[in-house]
Amino acid sequence: MAMADESKVDPDPSKGHLMGGTKTRIMQVVWPIFCFCLYGFFSFWYFPWATLTGAYRLGVLSEPLGLLAWALAHYWFVAWGFVTLNAVLVDFVAEHVFPEVPYYNPKARPDYSMAERLKFTWEHLWNTGVLAILQILVRVDCLFPWIFKQLGLINQTPLSSAELHQQSVGANTNMTVSPSIDDPVLGVFGGELSPDLLVSCYRPGSGSVMGDMLVAFAFIQVGIVFADISYCAWHLTQHKYKFLNRITNHGYHHQFHYPIGACGSWLAWLDICFSATFSHLLPTGLTVAIFQAMGFFNLSDFGIIGWKFVLQMYIHEMNHFAHTGKQVPVWSGCPLFPPLGFALNLQDSIACHEAHHNFGNCSFGLLSVGDKIFGTAQYPVDHPKHIKKQKKVA
Ligand SMILES: [Zn+2]
Ligand SMILES: [Zn+2]
Repeated sequence: MAMADESKVDPDPSKGHLMGGTKTRIMQVVWPIFCFCLYGFFSFWYFPWATLTGAYRLGVLSEPLGLLAWALAHYWFVAWGFVTLNAVLVDFVAEHVFPEVPYYNPKARPDYSMAERLKFTWEHLWNTGVLAILQILVRVDCLFPWIFKQLGLINQTPLSSAELHQQSVGANTNMTVSPSIDDPVLGVFGGELSPDLLVSCYRPGSGSVMGDMLVAFAFIQVGIVFADISYCAWHLTQHKYKFLNRITNHGYHHQFHYPIGACGSWLAWLDICFSATFSHLLPTGLTVAIFQAMGFFNLSDFGIIGWKFVLQMYIHEMNHFAHTGKQVPVWSGCPLFPPLGFALNLQDSIACHEAHHNFGNCSFGLLSVGDKIFGTAQYPVDHPKHIKKQKKVA
């Protein structure tokens, strides 16, 4: 009997995360560290210090128009910039770092030209404008922390931004006025400022380094699971009721039957307002409120802003990976401890969301937890779990 030629057997796309040998193992260690440093840098230095304190000092925040300009710049352009940067990174890893990892539906997938990518990214900028204005006017992300405070579940008073700024500058008793002392990163590098105060204000506050690492891990993981379940529930409703689908123009997102990572953020403007509320603003607010009630993240306002921002970046990352159409080995569904994500099969959220775009009537979440709870998880045609389901039906 002739042996099957193994080289001609198509690789199983659902096993893509196991391919790539040593490169995969290195990337599975490097990627979580890289992302944490990148999101942390933006969240703990760029956003609170470099811009907020800068704006305070320039007096911009005391002028209504200045405040509006600052808020729009950050909630619109900078937020769009971070999302776009995240999408570009995810697509770069999917397409160029792991080209050998097979796609689901390889023959049906279109090529996304640079011109098309730029066109949709440009449209995305305009489509996020209304959300930015709504975020400035209505702080949905503060709803749950506010409710928890009213219920007396959160009673600590974190150091305000102004107090922390004052303390960090005053911490150096021999200071001479210099431009870099106001900027903690430059101040620390220049030896003018001890990093201790700043680091201690951003730490979750468990009392030990190991405890803080565990709290950070739990915070991110709980946050992305909440985001998945909350978005899944909204998205299911949006598909169930045709008028919701129509008025939010959800069809714009469904023009991508075989998406790339960046498609995750490409939604029509009203769809973005609703989707961001359910996938970002409400779940991040709820996660922050629960952890604050447990006594963490209460040391400074900047810390709270920073951690909320970190969580949002992980939600964007989850969304972008869910749209890559292949088992990119660095996505485990558990960003800070990949072995747990793989053990729980959370990486198959990529296959699930691919099925959502292929069929349009299943797999409504971003991490597959919500879909497994609601019983709506489905897989692409070339995924073993899809074939099993088909066989069962037949
Ligand atoms: Zn999608
Ligand atoms: Zn949909």
